[in-house]
Formats: sequence, C-alpha cells, structure tokens
Amino acid sequence: MEICPLCNGFENFSGTCETCGSTMIDIGKVTDYMDDYSAYMEINLLKLVDGDVNSVKNHYCLHLTSCPICRNEQVITIQE
Ligand SMILES: [Zn+2]
Ligand SMILES: [Zn+2]
Repeated sequence: MEICPLCNGFENFSGTCETCGSTMIDIGKVTDYMDDYSAYMEINLLKLVDGDVNSVKNHYCLHLTSCPICRNEQVITIQE
C-alpha cells in the first residue's frame, strides 16, 4: 500500500489561499468527503487528470484543503 506523507503525518500541508492569501489547511482525504462533494469533485478530478480518474486513484492521494478565513476549498494531489 502506498504511503501518503500527509495521511501518515510525515508532512504538514501548508498552502496559500488563492482568494485571500491566508494559510490553507489540510482537512483530510477527499474520499472522506466524497458523499458531500461528489458533484464538485467530479469537476475538479477531471481538471486535474485530464479525465483519467483511475490514474489519480492509483498513484495519488487527493486531499481537500480549506481556507479558514474565506472558506475557499482546493483539492491537492499528493504523490504516494
Ligand atoms: Zn493522504
Ligand atoms: Zn481564503
């Protein structure tokens, strides 16, 4: 099984919100949010992988990041 550094606590994600410049936080794996975000995620997955969703599922861990200030959400891919 592949190891994702974020899931396993090897690394802490730190990113910058595109909207307001605040620090984005990692709020977990995208798959943990699939029920709520399924429609939203489909669009983003297609953008990320040119429609090849399986390659992302196999080689990357998708994380959802959120801005605590403006609630902007971004999906990031972590290579496992
Ligand atoms: Zn992960
Ligand atoms: Zn923000």
